[in-house]
Amino acid sequence: MSEARLPYGRQSISRADVEAVAEALAGDFLTTGPTVERFERALAECCGAGHAVVVSSGTAALHAAYYAAGLGPGDEIVTTPLTFVATASAALHLGATVRFVDVEPDTGTLDPAALAGAVGERTRLVVPIDYAGHPADYDAIRAITDERGLTLVADAAHSLGASYRGRPVGTLADLSATSFHPVKPVTTCEGGAVLTGKAEHAERARRFRNHGIVRQRPPDSPYWFYEVEDLGFNYRLSDVQSALGLSQLGRLEEFLARRRAIAGRYLEALADLPQIILPVERPEARSGWHLFVVQVSDPTRRRAFFEHLRDHGLLVQVHYIPVHHHPYFRRLGLEPGLCPVAEERFARSVSLPLFPAMTDDDVDRVIDQVHRSAAATL
Ligand SMILES: *Cc1c(COP(=O)(O)O)cnc(C)c1O
Repeated sequence: MSEARLPYGRQSISRADVEAVAEALAGDFLTTGPTVERFERALAECCGAGHAVVVSSGTAALHAAYYAAGLGPGDEIVTTPLTFVATASAALHLGATVRFVDVEPDTGTLDPAALAGAVGERTRLVVPIDYAGHPADYDAIRAITDERGLTLVADAAHSLGASYRGRPVGTLADLSATSFHPVKPVTTCEGGAVLTGKAEHAERARRFRNHGIVRQRPPDSPYWFYEVEDLGFNYRLSDVQSALGLSQLGRLEEFLARRRAIAGRYLEALADLPQIILPVERPEARSGWHLFVVQVSDPTRRRAFFEHLRDHGLLVQVHYIPVHHHPYFRRLGLEPGLCPVAEERFARSVSLPLFPAMTDDDVDRVIDQVHRSAAATL
């Protein structure tokens, strides 16, 4: 191959992003400083959420969101297995258990009907994943969580900037956890945020981020005074990373528009291939198009198609191996067959390259190669 290889996703770093980081590096605060708060205010504003608490990763955001919602030993979360392991492991770290329910075949997001049948005595949180950037069916899910008095936490790692019935991600659940990993909608290298409308949830997440420390000095106390009120972690995001995040956030609309344009080209130019099923965007949703996941009609040919694409320079991926298929979860007593729709999707899926920095030539090359690989292997 003479051409550079195209990954399924990657960051887009501008000169302005680099300058923002350089400026923060030359400042007084490398870690917690004024840029952290500026980034939080900009995030809250951008999503229409009342509060944003930035943390060191998307995993930390899930952990802090679950903690803020009061999850603990004896509790259960209900989520789907078509996700990265962190959605589940963050709950296990708090001593809770995880019940996996199936996804809807078109979007790969939590199936409200499956949820209704799975909620039990110990269920405390419901955690939909905005798979590939497409928001879950929040109205249908909310009807169930409201009726049962459950807290709704969105895994919004893929979907910053997406919306559902005109409402932005960040306002669709009681708490939303997002990620700033390099392939995600905007990046801080590593990082994440909890978005919420409730001051109390934000306060708990903030405390959890910094060892459970509260600094409310009584009037006659010495300067060194602080108190550890909770068990927490060092989940802080640095000022330097926040400077990158702030600069990236200013480019979110541009990123979303470019992703949408590329997805539109793929949907048009790959529609002639009967061997693959294309992703959908429901009329009530505006996807962030984090991933472009095609499904092969014949899952026995998926591996050949996948390897042919990779051998020809498209570094495709699979999202995801269902969480309950992993050995750790098998040892907890879970077995393949638990969520047949998610498992079927896994067996058919291939994520094509899709990221804002792709050129029109890159997009043409993907379209051409997918046709060639489909002809050769499907
Ligand atoms: C990326 C991701 C996470 C974890 O985010 P990190 O920033 O990598 O810790 C959680 N859930 C989903 C669905 C993700 O894609």
